[in-house]
This record gives sequence, C-alpha cells and structure tokens, in this order.
Amino acid sequence: MMRGIHDVKRAADLEFVWSRLCSRAGSSGKESDVRVMRQDERAIQASGLAGVNLDLMRRQNLASVLSAIGRRGEVSRTNLVAETGLTRAGVASLLKELHLLGLVEERGVRSGDRAGRPSSHARFTDASYVTISVEISVGTVTTVSRDLQRSQLSEDTRAVDKPSDAKAVLGLAKTMLHRTMRASHGLGRHLLGVAIIAPAIISPDRRRILSSPALGWADIDVVSEMELDKNVVIVVDNYANFAAIAESVSAPAVHLVHVQAGEGIGAGTAFGGIVQRGGGGFAGAVGHISMDPSGPPCTCGRRGCLEALANFDALLRRAAPDLAQGRRSAMDLLGEVAQRARTGDARAIDGIVETGRWLGRGIGSLINIVSPSIVKIGGYVPVLEPWVLSPVIEEARRGVVVPDLGGCVISASSPGAEAIELGATLSVQREAFSAEGLRNLRRSHGLSNSVT
Ligand SMILES: [Zn+2]
Repeated sequence: MMRGIHDVKRAADLEFVWSRLCSRAGSSGKESDVRVMRQDERAIQASGLAGVNLDLMRRQNLASVLSAIGRRGEVSRTNLVAETGLTRAGVASLLKELHLLGLVEERGVRSGDRAGRPSSHARFTDASYVTISVEISVGTVTTVSRDLQRSQLSEDTRAVDKPSDAKAVLGLAKTMLHRTMRASHGLGRHLLGVAIIAPAIISPDRRRILSSPALGWADIDVVSEMELDKNVVIVVDNYANFAAIAESVSAPAVHLVHVQAGEGIGAGTAFGGIVQRGGGGFAGAVGHISMDPSGPPCTCGRRGCLEALANFDALLRRAAPDLAQGRRSAMDLLGEVAQRARTGDARAIDGIVETGRWLGRGIGSLINIVSPSIVKIGGYVPVLEPWVLSPVIEEARRGVVVPDLGGCVISASSPGAEAIELGATLSVQREAFSAEGLRNLRRSHGLSNSVT
C-alpha cells in the first residue's frame, strides 16, 4: 500500500517522520513516548500522506537490516546505520524487534586496541529457525536442513526406483520433508521456509515445473504436492539458478553465469545478485541449444542438443562405458571416473576431454549471447577440473566472437555441489525476510501493526 508515496519529496518527508518514530520507539517505551508517537502518526495522516502503511514501512526497514546482516554475516550497529541510512536509535529499535522474533542476536566485539567499550555486532541466531531444501534428481531425493547461519543440521537421501513417476517421487519428497519438519519442530526450531530443487524449467512464479526433460515431467504443481500450510515460504527453482544466487553473494556487482553440467545442462544468470529469468521465465535452457542436428537423441525429443552431447551420461558413455549401465549413484560414478583419470586411464581422459570440448562450444555460444564477466561451471566439472577445464576454455575461446573471451573468466564452481543447496537456503531467507514475508513472521509473534 505505497500509493501515498508518489514523489521523492513525500518519500523524504515520510522517512524523516519514520526515523523520529523509530528513535522514540528505541528509547524508553514509556506511555508518554507512545503518546507522542501516536501524535506523529496523526501528523502523517494530517499532512496529506494518508494511505501510508506504517506497518509496511517498518517491515521494509526490518528487511533492510536483515539484508545487511545476511550479506555481511556479522555487522556492527555503526555499519548498519551506514548501510541502511536509518538513525542509530532506529536501528536499535529494529534490532530489538528482530531479537524478539528470534532472528538476530548481538554480542560485544572489542576492536584491536582494548580501550573503550566493546561495540555491539549483530548476526543471525543459530538456534531458532530452520530452512529445509528438497532436492529431486534423477534417481534420488535428498532433504537438507540448515540454520539461519546456513550451517547444515541434517541430511537424508533416498533412492527413487522410477524417476519419471512424478506422483511417486513427489510423494516420497513430501514424506521426507514432513519428517524433517517434525524433527526440527521437536528440537524447538521454527520453519523459516522450504526450497524445492529440480533439474527443470520452472514457472516465473517459482511454484510449478513447466518441463523437465531429464525427469520426463511436464506441468507439475510442485508446491501443492508438498501439502504445506499456505503461509509457509516455499520456492521452487533449478540447479543453475540456485547456484547462480549462491555464487553472486561473493560477486554481487558482477554479471555472472552459472552453468550446471550434470544430468541436465542449464545456465543461471545473475546480475546484482538477482537471477535474470527472461520474459517467459525459462532463460538459461542452454542445454537444448542445437549443436549437431544429426547428433544423438536428447531427452527433449530433438537431436544433437548440447545436453545430449555433454551431460553426465554422455561423459560416462565416452569415459567409462562399462559403468554406464550400473545402478550406482551419480556421485559414486563420478568419483570412479576421476579415479581412473588419476591413474592415467587413456579412455577415461579422452572421454573427459571430448565431453569438455562439446561443453566449451556450448559455453562459447552462451558467452556470445549473454557477455558475462564470469562463468562458473558446476556438476561434473569441479570434480574433473584437472582434465576437463582446459578443453572447455579452449573451445569456448574458439567460439567467442571477440578475443580472450571478451574478458570473461571461466572457472569451476568454487563451492562445488554445495552451491545449489546454499543458493536454495539463501532464496528462502530472501523471501522470508522480504517486507512481504515478514508480515507472517511478525504476525506469528503477535507483533503485527505495532511499532514496538
Ligand atoms: Zn534437447
């Protein structure tokens, strides 16, 4: 309800009055202060700023403080004031509320020279909330729970007999999710939200799988299948987009592409820490770039897509064909291929190099289209980096229309397989700590519509 704020002057007036409100709220909380605050609220209404939602402004300020803490891990009150533009008393008031919500704790930190009082640093608490991610891959479902500081609390992986049976796979995912929720609840933790990770093209509202050639699924309402309370934050996205979110944390001002080279191949593009989804929402379906119209069949029904030539199955068929028919997990098989390459197995090394060349050709096309500053590659690439990265870069370099990849730096994804699941946790935190998400959190603590 921001219809009262149409111009900069009005917004500036509001911020000024709001800052006063926060300052008062941060002082004593005495009856006289509350009365003065009520007068200020009436003054806002009387000054033609009717329609302003004070609760929304409060939530926006809370969101700014949470965002600063999320970015920096631990941050002093002085830096919070500098980063948010709020008054010191305003920040104190907001931190008080975030403490009441169980989200933030403060501790005294002494600077190098031991003179003076320790300064107060705020950080997320590690005992109150849990975020659960559910990863659906070809052959397994995995749940992982993490606290607000993104430390892992639990992990559970189950095998899936028939990955294409969406109902059975999602039924298993739901059972595992609810089991993890019950276990967290038993430890006194509140559920902050849930992320569903799938090798799929996701609807722009991040609730449905539009298509997953790797799983053989189309048009599935994943959120409904999880049977969660409607107030629970839940985000659905694919490997590449979640990984791009995680990687953009360390390079927020950079135009970054994460290419996920696993069972499927997809790309997530982030700029300013935000994933670029395009008009239809399926930007980054780079795995289905046509590389060779007479090439091998692809899961999407066409032939010679990048995915058919350079996904993990293609790698396995070239590098270790004897393993291709097995029922071992992908991580297990990948470890075996790496081991063979380490021992100098010529077939394994040649297979890795050829697959890397195909991947590099695809990435070269992607760089021509997107012109990113950084390309990070996940999936099998971090594990096979010593053999696969050079051919990828060499072929990409050949394909990019300007010299030296146009300044783009290609490397293996640094956090490895964890990037995806960390990005999922970050996405849930972003939703839950947005002005909109904080509405439910405050309501559940009886803080709605207050300026405590
Ligand atoms: Zn395809």
